[in-house]
Amino acid sequence: MELKNTRNVDQYVFGSGAVKQLGGVLKTRFYDLRPCCVYCVDSFFEGSDLLGRLPISSNDQVLFINTVDEPKTTLIDSLVEKIISQSKGDIDCVIGVGGGIVLDVAKAIANMLTNDGPAQDYQGWDLLKHPAIYKIGIPTLSGTGSEASRTCILTNVEKGIKLGMNSDYTLFDQLILDPDLTATVPREQYFYTGMDTYLHCMESLRGSYRNAIVDALSQKAIDLCREVFLSDDMQSAQNRERMMIASYFGGCAAGNVGVVHPLSAGLSVALGTHHGIANCIVMNVMDEFYPSEYKEFVAMKIKQNVDVPSAVCADLTPAQYEQLFASSICHEKPLKNALGENFRDILTKEKMISIFKRM
Ligand code: ZN
Repeated sequence: MELKNTRNVDQYVFGSGAVKQLGGVLKTRFYDLRPCCVYCVDSFFEGSDLLGRLPISSNDQVLFINTVDEPKTTLIDSLVEKIISQSKGDIDCVIGVGGGIVLDVAKAIANMLTNDGPAQDYQGWDLLKHPAIYKIGIPTLSGTGSEASRTCILTNVEKGIKLGMNSDYTLFDQLILDPDLTATVPREQYFYTGMDTYLHCMESLRGSYRNAIVDALSQKAIDLCREVFLSDDMQSAQNRERMMIASYFGGCAAGNVGVVHPLSAGLSVALGTHHGIANCIVMNVMDEFYPSEYKEFVAMKIKQNVDVPSAVCADLTPAQYEQLFASSICHEKPLKNALGENFRDILTKEKMISIFKRM
């Protein structure tokens, strides 16, 4: 097997108050040329004092990204069209400020500003023809690993798929990792999103497709998650710092997932459940597949006094159960990673529906 050539994010600034360095980072990169920047900002921050701390100039555009729904390819197309029509010159830089959804939108926009055609043409592996616009990621929520990954997940309604633009061009060029920015995240959301790191890494380590560097990063990310979620205050300054590092390591590792993510994707497709909370709903019934991690997950949930919804799939129509099954079993690679070539014999339709009924 050919060994993969791996790229990571080129540069990062890490630490409390790091966001103040954005102006200096831009100056170093563009000298005094006053770059034309596009800021993609989570609409949660509209009207907040965070905007006043960003070096936004009259050349720049600020787009507020709504995170009610996960991003669609058509959203990217319309945003790119809007950016080009409103631009006073060439765009030099795209800056994403937000959680996984906003970071993914920023990455996709930067890709589409240099690659022709609709966004859906580039969903898949290494389809982008040209390097993206220089882009900076400023996460305000930790856990998805989007800040460090080489993909941006988009829903393609026409084709009925959820797939990223997997490419080295999708990676951010620069990160500003400031744990102060996650201080205002609501507790539940902080837990659900943070658990995404724990689950990515746990599924990767329990699978059969392995890589020594991915294993080492995953192990460290899990250790950090344990420190965070088994402590008294998961959102203390030190724990927000730990969680930001864990998310970054998890994103760099981006190993192969297992049983949790396919079933979670089923919930997202069939019921519109957001990724982080969907993962936790699935993990709540994973006693059979991941017994020790299930116990640890329950301990973390109790320690943090966080509720994970139950009975979400207790009373659905036969058509909905069919859809849950179909949109989970289609994720062959992770299911093979976790259960082997014969995963369909283990996760039969009957078995899978009985698992969903417990959620
Ligand atoms: Zn995930």
